[in-house]
Amino acid sequence: MEPDVALDPERPDCTAIHLPCRHRFTALCLVYHWLLSENVRCPLCRAGPANGRLKRSLLPRHIRIPMKRQIFMTTPLPQKWFATHDIVCTLEGVDSHYKHTVRLECNPIESGFVLLSKDVTAIIMPVVMLQIVLRSPGHADLRFRSSCWFSAEGDFSVRVGISCITEGYYLIKKRGTLKAAFYVDSDFFKQMAWNHDNNLPPPPFDTSPYVIRDL
Ligand SMILES: [Zn+2]
Repeated sequence: MEPDVALDPERPDCTAIHLPCRHRFTALCLVYHWLLSENVRCPLCRAGPANGRLKRSLLPRHIRIPMKRQIFMTTPLPQKWFATHDIVCTLEGVDSHYKHTVRLECNPIESGFVLLSKDVTAIIMPVVMLQIVLRSPGHADLRFRSSCWFSAEGDFSVRVGISCITEGYYLIKKRGTLKAAFYVDSDFFKQMAWNHDNNLPPPPFDTSPYVIRDL
């Protein structure tokens, strides 16, 4: 959102806040700073109440939602988010059309997320399609783009299906077991998480075809 958006649409010329310490700030930047730092002190001289906090729910909606989204997108997802959501992978066989669902373990890494399934050896079919779904109580499931049909047969240790740099599906063979895994760029994941939490449709997916490679 632009810093010149009016705090109060009925008074569009009021775009600055003067604090009692005589420091002056762009209204929107100061409100965002206060939300982020969870206090209402002057960002320059730190004057202000010791335990004051901005009441998020009292902010006008046209500001509250974009600011909440900006904070969500620019800070790491808290553990609480993972505790209240399920990240599942559905596996559908080419000829069974029955979808198995496994809950994925999430392993955040610096530049993104690797989401590993539990062992899928017992349910794997010769040719499968994988799809990641975000699930939480009170919200509609939000689906990532599904993979293409993946052959789980043959001699390989890592088989990867990638269509774009933001996500990819993996099948990993190790000592007679098979794991399904999903890699997703953390910014894209957060966009999906935000849309899920706010009951919005998924953002537009990259529609490049999947390329299957053995590593
Ligand atoms: Zn000040």
